[in-house]
Amino acid sequence: MKGTAGKAYFCPRCHSPAVSFTQLEGVSDSPASCSACHWRGGKKDLVVTAYQHDMGSEDEVLTRFVRDFRNLMGQPAIALPIAQWLNKWGFLPNDPSQQHKVLARYITAVAKGAITAVLQTREELEKDRVNVS
Ligand SMILES: [Zn+2]
Repeated sequence: MKGTAGKAYFCPRCHSPAVSFTQLEGVSDSPASCSACHWRGGKKDLVVTAYQHDMGSEDEVLTRFVRDFRNLMGQPAIALPIAQWLNKWGFLPNDPSQQHKVLARYITAVAKGAITAVLQTREELEKDRVNVS
């Protein structure tokens, strides 16, 4: 595998890669914050994943990674069955004028949850790999 090895940090609340932190020597945790949703916390709270790529800067790659998935979730072939499933189980309002808005929030939530799950699984896989070798 060729490319640049990097470590990606995501906001634990909104999963934006627009997080900043300062690494302080001899301190167990550093303050971190997200410029997208104004979350504040510690560096240890950030969702972190290692990755390899051969395109652009790290920020660029991460923004594309998240945007790619959100676009995927918005496609009718994916969003429509999810809408039908939510509707079947009574998660969507009866008022058609409200349905789209509520559905958009669910789709965004599903995308966030899925991105978190993917990143956490990636982290677990990395740990397994390091522990085995
Ligand atoms: Zn955030």
